[in-house]
Amino acid sequence: MDKKDYYEVLGVQKNASQDEIKSAFRKLAKKYHPDVSKEPDAEAKFKEIQEAYAVLSDEEKRKQYDQFGHAAFQGGAGGAGGGFGGFDFSGFSYDDIFDNIFGDFGGFGGSSRRSSNRATKGNDSLVKMTLTFEEAVYGTKKEIELEVTETCDHCHGKGGFDETTCEHCHGSGTITSEQHTIFGSFLSKTTCPHCGGKGKSYKRKCSECNGTGKIRVEKELEIKVPAGVDTGNRLRLSGKGSAGTNGGPNGDLYIEFTVKDHEFYVRDEDDIYLEVPLTLTEAILGCKKEIPTLYGNVNLTVPSGSESGDKQRIKGKGIHNDSTHRKGDMYIVLKVITPKKLSKEQKRLIEMLDDTDLNDKEIDKFKRFVRENNN
Ligand SMILES: [Zn+2]
Ligand SMILES: [Zn+2]
Repeated sequence: MDKKDYYEVLGVQKNASQDEIKSAFRKLAKKYHPDVSKEPDAEAKFKEIQEAYAVLSDEEKRKQYDQFGHAAFQGGAGGAGGGFGGFDFSGFSYDDIFDNIFGDFGGFGGSSRRSSNRATKGNDSLVKMTLTFEEAVYGTKKEIELEVTETCDHCHGKGGFDETTCEHCHGSGTITSEQHTIFGSFLSKTTCPHCGGKGKSYKRKCSECNGTGKIRVEKELEIKVPAGVDTGNRLRLSGKGSAGTNGGPNGDLYIEFTVKDHEFYVRDEDDIYLEVPLTLTEAILGCKKEIPTLYGNVNLTVPSGSESGDKQRIKGKGIHNDSTHRKGDMYIVLKVITPKKLSKEQKRLIEMLDDTDLNDKEIDKFKRFVRENNN
């Protein structure tokens, strides 16, 4: 395996100063970090850069490298060509690298992002709500009770009174310590454990919120459910979730719906299906039928000779969906009911009907097929 010259990898001169090496590494690491880079070979490049930096930033290792080249780090400790490949930042996020390793530079404006002074959005909440078919179709208003985290009024979210600067971190919220690793020493920043990264402490703790700056409250909220919601739909109420931290915005509240079935109407997205039962004679002779729709009853003409399964569309009588601004249609599906019990009189009338031979072409054709099949 041909290894590239470490100086070439970082793009610096052989006599580059430590500052030049660090600066070159920062630029390249920022460009090739796999979390952010769109370059196709970013990961391999990034490893290469790390490796070069790990050696060149350590004066001792750099001296060995200048003298022996890559051989300086090969074949040691029984490593068959293992070289320096084991050095791996992959467990670190982009932020970790720039905030911790380069925290001392402060050049990325990054360290403040990780301190707990950072304004953070509150948690989102989810509430499940069951609606009747009608409530979902027409929309409705519902009162819900939910428990949310709110900023403590008493201390205005600070958690205490009589603010003082944390004496452990002198207000920075972070404690800088030097970390010694085989690759050299790094200045590493960690969140101050005494003030939790706030940089401040309070002489008196707020008793209302027990110093957390937040309180749990039961809240009643009126929810306007838009017309047309369906099972599984979620409504997002921006900013109605839990309070944010350090002045960050509230989280969102999501309402997830379950819609109960209707006894007669069957819903298919914004369309409504209704099965309408017909007597035998209504189907044969045709009739006028009063049809219940979501918007009042309408009269429908059922043509003579209708059969089970025949469908008619009533345009625009489906669901008027607030979120899609679509108007669904209504479909009437006919179902001819064959009488199961006949009185003597009814039986006689049906038999009379049969004697008149109402056979149509389809029935005649089938009769012919039966006869021919037997020959
Ligand atoms: Zn409080
Ligand atoms: Zn502190």
